[in-house]
This record gives sequence, C-alpha cells and structure tokens, in this order.
Amino acid sequence: MSNSDHSLLAGDPAPMPPEIIGSSVDMNRPFWNMGRETMPIEQMRALQTGKLRRQLMYLAESSDFYKEKFRASGFVPAAFQTIEDIQSIPFTTKAELRESQENHPPFGLHRAAPMERIVRVTATSGTTGKSVFQGYTLHDTTQRSESLARALWGFGVRPGDRVVNGFALSMFNAGIPMCAAVEKLGAVSIPVGAERRVEGMLKLMQQLKATVWIGTPSFISALAERCEEVLGMRPNELGLRIICGGGESGFEQPAFQKRMEKIWGTPHVYDFASTSDAHPNSFAHCKHRNGKHHLTPDMVLIELINPETGALLDMAEGVQGEYVFTHLDRQACPLLRYRTGDIIKVYTSACECGRTGFRMDIVGRSDDMLIIRGVNVFPSAIQSVIGKFSPQVNGAMQIVLETPGPAVKPPLRLRVEAANADQGLKATMEQTLRRELTVTTDIEFVPPGALARTETKTKLIVLEGS
Ligand SMILES: [Zn+2]
Repeated sequence: MSNSDHSLLAGDPAPMPPEIIGSSVDMNRPFWNMGRETMPIEQMRALQTGKLRRQLMYLAESSDFYKEKFRASGFVPAAFQTIEDIQSIPFTTKAELRESQENHPPFGLHRAAPMERIVRVTATSGTTGKSVFQGYTLHDTTQRSESLARALWGFGVRPGDRVVNGFALSMFNAGIPMCAAVEKLGAVSIPVGAERRVEGMLKLMQQLKATVWIGTPSFISALAERCEEVLGMRPNELGLRIICGGGESGFEQPAFQKRMEKIWGTPHVYDFASTSDAHPNSFAHCKHRNGKHHLTPDMVLIELINPETGALLDMAEGVQGEYVFTHLDRQACPLLRYRTGDIIKVYTSACECGRTGFRMDIVGRSDDMLIIRGVNVFPSAIQSVIGKFSPQVNGAMQIVLETPGPAVKPPLRLRVEAANADQGLKATMEQTLRRELTVTTDIEFVPPGALARTETKTKLIVLEGS
C-alpha cells in the first residue's frame, strides 16, 4: 500500500445498517448497528486483531511519526500476531502531538493520509495549553457519524425527531460533527449551538418544536432556570422527549438526572462521552444508565493503565485507571496507544440491554486531580456527593483554591448554591464528604445563581488569593 493508493484502508467489510428509506427500516430495533453493538466478545477480539494488523501496516507505510516510534522501540509491524504485541510500543502523549504540530504544521508528522484526502478539522479545547488539531478524511467522518449515531439511536432518537445541538459549534467535536451524525441517523438536525445563549436557544426550541436536546449540564440547567421568564411557560410544557449530554460532569449523576427528569417532564436523560482525539469513539448510556457502554470497540481499542506508573490494568469489574486508546480504522491522523488523561471506572458485568462492550463512568481527569493529605480527590466526585442533597441544592458549586493544585492543604473550601441553607445542612454535607471521599471541607453557601457560569461549561475550580 502506498500514499498514492487512493483506496487507503479498504472499507469496513461488515454490513452496515440499511439506509433510512421510507418506512422500510425497523424503527423499533434497539441498536443502530445490531451486529457490532451486540457482537460476542471473542468475535470482537478477532475483528479488532485483524483491523489492528491492517492499521499497523498502514502506519508503518504512511505515518512518519509512528515509523520513528516503531524503529526506536524495535517493534516490527509485520511480526504482529496478537493485540498484546503492541504493549512494547511506548505510549503517545498530547505533548508529543503538540510538539509535532508546532514543528510540522498544521497536523504534525502523525498525519498519515495525503493532504488532498483530508476534508475536515476539529480541535481539542486548549484548557491545558495550545489546541491540538485533528484531521479527518471522508472515511473518518463517516466512521465518526456512525459512532455518534449508535449513541443517539440507543437513547431513542429516531427519524422525525427535531434534535437541537446546544454544544459549542466552533471547532468542537460535539458541534458540527454531532449535527452530521443526527443527519446520518435521519432525524432533523438543528444546529443552534451554545453561541445562541439561553434566550435564543429557548425561542428556537419552542419555534421548531424540539423533541431532543444535546449539550452540557450547565446549559440545560440555565435553560430550565430562565424558561418561564423568556417563554412564559414551564420547561415541561416545551415537549422535550430526550435530553442527552456530556462535555462535563453532571449527566451521569443520578441526582442531576432526577432533577432534569422532573423539570423537563421526561424520564429519558442520558450521558455520552468521548475524547476529541479519540474519535470515532463513543461511550453512552443505555436505558438502564448503569455506566456508559463502549459503543465502538470495532473502531477504537481501549487499554487501561495506572496513571502514575503506566502499568497495564485488567479490564475487570470496578477497576479504575486512565484509558489509553488505539485507532483501528483511522486514516488522516491515526493514534496508537494515546494517553487520554481521563480516569475511568470500568464495569464488565453483563447489561440487561444486550450490548456487549464494557461500561464505564468517568471519575475525572488526571490533571484535575487534587491531593489532600495524600488522598486523591476528583472535583467531579465532590460534585456528585453535593448533588445528592438536591432539592436543597441545585448542584452548582465551586472549589476555591488559594494556591494551584494538585496538593491542597485541608480543609478544602467549597462554595455551594443553596436556597435555604443552615448550619445543620453544612454539618451534614461536610460529614458526608468526609465519609465518602475522606476529605475535610469547609462549605460556604451562596444564593442560587450567585456562582459565575457560562452556557457551555461551569468552572469547577477557582483560584483566589488568601
Ligand atoms: Zn446496557
């Protein structure tokens, strides 16, 4: 295979779901891609092995970045036999990608497809440094739509639904690419975006009779708070059937789900997750909401490691670690053993829904982690405990640090929005946090709406001088 070979990697040989034409499609089938989402694990392992072999040969031929990594580690792609063989290849890090893109703009040396085959670019948010860009060929964008369509169909989204996208549309993977996935599924894609802010969003939802809403928990909470003022009607009168979101902690928490169900009048509140560099990769709730299923084991291989030592961990029930991914079927900017920095807890027990991929919850990001007297604490875990005190609290909170983390001297200062807080609530909340997370806190209550927030994301940690 060479770069002039326009077929690049051969298309996926397995049958894809039928196109949506008229009423010939089984709208009641539970999964978008029945074959892949319920494939027995051994069969999936064989599929992954075959695809990985092909991908490794492609990288050895077309990616200067991985040619060098293979050479330096002594890895011989032609000798590849089992998935475990790649364990001798060092991890790929975001710092390496950033450096490669700076020295070889715009995509870096890990670009493996010719530039004339690249049709789309996205960027990872630059919260921890400069943006990293991902290029996609037409094949890559098709795969990404497939991965997101699996999540949406599982939530119950069907042709005929009016699906409002409330994520930031600019450069973001859940923005325009999500709109494309809604179109692939055959539903009505409404690209409103977080850019329209609360008032504009509410009006469009009403005018277009939106039935599905996608976005962050901060944004859907802000919409609920201002719905009556802007539209003169309660949120549950708008007719939303399904709410799905991600991008930050919230949607996976039962307390938040319950609150949104009540406010919006629907039991269908779901969470999905990915990592921008990892696409096409999707994790999403099924109706049982007991962890998010890995929906794309046929496209992305996941390994679990100890974030401190890099040692491999067993993919077993309840194990917690950083997830590392390898693209099995990516052309433009494929990555091998990439460290995401996302700490997940995995579940391998069977799920009633029938999907076979493992399930997970995101515990936090390794770079968000705080260390309080030697105990590792993730801001999302604190938020999850606070959320249990709903309806006394609305879930909005902030961690106040006097010096940058990760090491924090106790007590950990928290600001929590609450309507009628008293000393009793403060004591109970602090005791619960100590019992569940082994962390000593000092909680200050503020009135609802007092904490600064944006439509897209609420800042969980603020730095203030003492
Ligand atoms: Zn399930």
